[in-house]
Amino acid sequence: MRFLFPALSLVFITRLLAQPFQLPTANRALLEPDGGGERYFVGTAGKPWTSGQFGCVRTEGFQFHEGMDIRPMNRDKRGEPTDPALCSMPGVVAYVNSRTGLSNYGNYVVVRHSLSGLEVVTLYAHLASIRPGLKSGDVVQAGEPVGTMGRTSNTRQRITVDRAHLNFEINFMLNARYSAWHKANQATTRNDHANFNGLNLAGTDPATVFKYQALLGTNFNLVRHLKAAPELCRVMIRRPSLDFLRRNPGLVEANPVAAREGTAGWELSLGFNGLPLRAVPRATSEITGTDTTRVLFVNASVQENYPCGKLLVKRGQLWTLTAKGNRLLDVLAY
Ligand SMILES: [Zn+2]
Repeated sequence: MRFLFPALSLVFITRLLAQPFQLPTANRALLEPDGGGERYFVGTAGKPWTSGQFGCVRTEGFQFHEGMDIRPMNRDKRGEPTDPALCSMPGVVAYVNSRTGLSNYGNYVVVRHSLSGLEVVTLYAHLASIRPGLKSGDVVQAGEPVGTMGRTSNTRQRITVDRAHLNFEINFMLNARYSAWHKANQATTRNDHANFNGLNLAGTDPATVFKYQALLGTNFNLVRHLKAAPELCRVMIRRPSLDFLRRNPGLVEANPVAAREGTAGWELSLGFNGLPLRAVPRATSEITGTDTTRVLFVNASVQENYPCGKLLVKRGQLWTLTAKGNRLLDVLAY
């Protein structure tokens, strides 16, 4: 027992330090009892603060906002924000875009993190400037500045100074070979951002992650958090292995049949925006049909509550994938 004790306290300390995500700016209003509201979120022009949240918050719920738009705490004499954007957890810089005109995100930074069987990327967008010298491959610590909050974007309607904000996202990369998929399948459209093309990223609500972390402390676990998220549908991808699951083995559940007979395909639970939330390996004997991808089940209430996902459509009594839904499964299967 005496020998076990130091080991146990080490586990305890490591768990205390394991709080995964830190708020990406000095604004902490999100964690106040009322969630911060207007003090934390910046809404779109003329719309309430709620349109600055993650999810189906725009155009009467039919337009998806992939991140959360965080209000600055400090401004200079001209009213421009001066808050640094802070790396949310230790990681490695995966992508830096300083060609402002090439993205509606303007100047942005993506950092890759690995935690308990998941590969997460956090994204910091609309930066006025990127920290000088910051480049892909740099190791960054939690709380380390990656740039200064701003309002850069290539959209026709510019972000006005009063609406300057940090767009922060917690994402997963659908396929590490996306660039090759794009070249083979979307050759008519430009891909200026390699694997960090928006079509290859699917995220989870950062505000919910922060709030649950604050509530659960060291018991917070991102895998469990994702598995508890609303499931839009379950799909079958008939491939023995998927790049997404090689990088995110934490989402894989045990199946003795597939363990015995071999994995022929993957049953994926998808969230409203297509993020895989959990995966079960399936043996040939458990798969019906021969299609590479197939919808197994749709949760109609989730489809109704998240109209901005647009992955499925009901024709008569039959649910089918939209072009967007098909593209998502195509990328995952590639
Ligand atoms: Zn945004």
